[in-house]
Amino acid sequence: MTNGKDYWKTNRRWFLMPFKIILDRDACIGCGSCAAICPENWVMEGDKSKPKKTQVKEIGCNKEAADACPVQCITIKEI
Ligand code: SF4
Repeated sequence: MTNGKDYWKTNRRWFLMPFKIILDRDACIGCGSCAAICPENWVMEGDKSKPKKTQVKEIGCNKEAADACPVQCITIKEI
């Protein structure tokens, strides 16, 4: 049987939303690649893109969106 401490350790990542999505909006050229590749979390707002969520439990397609960004203005940090 697990005690509360073990449960916290086991499920730490779930609670923490361990991935932070950071967009350098000034560098974004509004090409739309991120929103096309990862519509789950990226949306165009005017001539720039924007992440719907800036902290997520799973990287998911955010990784592909960051890799595809021609000016590399998307950063994913594990916290
Ligand atoms: S892929 Fe990069 S440059 Fe293109 S809209 Fe997304 S964040 Fe902006």
